[in-house]
Amino acid sequence: MEDYIGKLKDGTIKIHALENEMPVEEAVSVRRAFIEEETGCKFEKVSGFTIDIERAARKNCENMIGTVQIPLGIAGKLKVNGEYADSEYYIPLATTEGALIASINRGCKAITKAGGADVRIQRDGMTRAPVFSARDVIHAGNIIKWIDANTETLKEIAQSTTSHGKLTGITCFLTGTNVYVRIEFFTGDAMGMNMVTIASEKISEKICEETGAVLVALSGNMCTDKKPAAINLILGRGKTVSAGVFLSDDMIKEVFKTDAKTLMEVNNRKNLVGSARAGALGFNAHAANVIAAIFLACGQDPAHVVEGSNTITTVDQMEKGVYVSVTLPSLQVGTVGGGTGLDTQRECLSLLGCSGGGEVSGNNSRKLAEIIASAVLAGELSLIGALGAGHLARAHKTLGR
Ligand code: NAP
Repeated sequence: MEDYIGKLKDGTIKIHALENEMPVEEAVSVRRAFIEEETGCKFEKVSGFTIDIERAARKNCENMIGTVQIPLGIAGKLKVNGEYADSEYYIPLATTEGALIASINRGCKAITKAGGADVRIQRDGMTRAPVFSARDVIHAGNIIKWIDANTETLKEIAQSTTSHGKLTGITCFLTGTNVYVRIEFFTGDAMGMNMVTIASEKISEKICEETGAVLVALSGNMCTDKKPAAINLILGRGKTVSAGVFLSDDMIKEVFKTDAKTLMEVNNRKNLVGSARAGALGFNAHAANVIAAIFLACGQDPAHVVEGSNTITTVDQMEKGVYVSVTLPSLQVGTVGGGTGLDTQRECLSLLGCSGGGEVSGNNSRKLAEIIASAVLAGELSLIGALGAGHLARAHKTLGR
């Protein structure tokens, strides 16, 4: 150990190269000890963990020194009436935000009592949009013409890079001498970003070869990955999914201690008009709260909470109650790949019955998407209800402080 710390100090070994010199577990310990010596900071807790460190350090995290732990709670059961998720579920939520799980749990109670959340996936496709430069606008237009005429060839090229992925569409955007090629893929049970990036690279090579276009960047930001963007709200990215539930007047009174008119008013004035006035891309109360907690529990890419946050919540007046819905235009989820194989995250996916690849490729990730949308509905209902009944401040005082 001391030997290697010395080598790290004098630069004869790089901090990222320790795994080449020794077993992963030892490399992580040496690196941690080095950082402790360098900084005087002690990692007594960061050093204790249960996940398979070999996998984590090789696949998920460079320069690993340990883990941070996030409390994991459950809400539910939540009844989901989906095409892929059709049962009652305990929802795993990893969070440090007191009151969040209690709030979601209340929404789950109401939804389950009302017969469950109706949920449907409207579209399913991950996107990557390389940007090419052209000589002039005529050349740019010709590049797009070639792509439109050769989509089948590009599909075959994509197919050669993956057994589960499928190119499902290409939409081109021209801006001066910039050509953005938004390529969409069905990615099975994987969230799909690596998969589509690998395929897009091959496709881009062909486009350059045939048209004289110059590939500037494999991601030209019209994908749009991990940034708030109207294109994801309008065209969708990943799964576009809607969940809804009818709540009777009696139930609104019993569970939320308020009434239909108040729920509608809160949603209209806050989620719709307030968000519009703020120029927001999301029209919801706190969808990101629920998405973040499930993503952390289930090994999803946490940066994709950005896209999930463009959820739209609606409350329709019905004869004897309200129909509340959420639509998540761009929910990116997977049950294989990324962080889904880490031991603790895999256990959480197993709780939902969707760890790993489904019997039919894509069905497990769709199941996860339906459950998440239903949980978001529970979160929205509960917060709108709490605001309507004026309970918000009280709940935070009791549970969060
Ligand atoms: P991945 O772990 O890179 O790839 C999924 C792999 O699982 C593929 O090789 C696929 O094989 C295989 N697979 C096995 N069973 C499958 C099934 N039932 N459905 C689908 N695939 C199956 O995962 P990914 O979802 O593509 O990428 C996720 C990672 O991308 C995350 O770690 C995320 O942080 C990262 N990420 C990357 C970028 C980027 O630009 N590269 C951007 C954002 C995030 P086949 O391909 O042979 O079918």
